[in-house]
Amino acid sequence: MDATVVDREPVGPDTFTLTFETPEGFEGLAGQFVRLSAERSGESYARFYTLSSPDTEDTFEITVEVADEGGPFSDYLDDLSPGDEIAVAGPYGDEYYDGEARAVVLAGGPGVGAAVAIAEAAVANDAEAAVVYQYDDEPAHTARLDALVDAGADVITLADGDEFDAAVADALTNSEGEGVFVYGFAEFVDAATAAIEAAGGDPDGAKVENFG
Ligand SMILES: Cc1cc2nc3c(=O)[nH]c(=O)nc-3n(C[C@H](O)[C@H](O)[C@H](O)COP(=O)(O)OP(=O)(O)OC[C@H]3O[C@@H](n4cnc5c(N)ncnc54)[C@H](O)[C@@H]3O)c2cc1C
Repeated sequence: MDATVVDREPVGPDTFTLTFETPEGFEGLAGQFVRLSAERSGESYARFYTLSSPDTEDTFEITVEVADEGGPFSDYLDDLSPGDEIAVAGPYGDEYYDGEARAVVLAGGPGVGAAVAIAEAAVANDAEAAVVYQYDDEPAHTARLDALVDAGADVITLADGDEFDAAVADALTNSEGEGVFVYGFAEFVDAATAAIEAAGGDPDGAKVENFG
């Protein structure tokens, strides 16, 4: 199915959101991801992107980071603007917000999109939310993270490497009903699962999405 871009907003350094009109029959949950595909210079490409909107009613959003080490597809998405169409499949993934009484999201880099979506879905569900977000140069999605703090969520933003394990230990209560979520590239996922274990949590029970 194709989805039409209805909005594009910068939300941080080299980071932007794309909002799409929700195609008929498409229903996704915070934490799930979609596959976008397109042809570039005669070659077919497909990449996965996590929903950064708390739901998919009328529209859904993704958050994309264009990194120095990145390849062709994030550049392609960077050039899209309202009115453009792209092939979308999904949603995919079992790692989504499922009504947990407390959601703790550990996010690295563009994983911040999943973090705001899951925390917003938890707040809308009158549940507790905590976010530990590790960024590279400057944080993204600061307006939505600030709004989450105003709504009662605990949000810790850290520059790369700063006190990450201590922040995870502070955020985790390891209580029943707490769901732990991890979203980011492989190096961050390794650091996050080690931090969960060091804090007495259960990394195998965490909902983990590894971006590759
Ligand atoms: C389940 C899943 C969900 C994902 N969700 C998101 C998302 O919400 N937002 C998002 O931006 N990306 C997400 N990704 C990654 C995305 O699919 C692409 O890999 C990314 O946009 C780069 O695409 P590319 O074609 O530009 O580079 P690629 O050819 O895919 O990447 C080239 C190399 O650069 C590395 N790389 C690319 N981008 C980054 C980065 N930002 N930080 C660190 N290393 C990087 C990759 O690991 C790879 O080794 C997700 C991946 C998976 C598997």
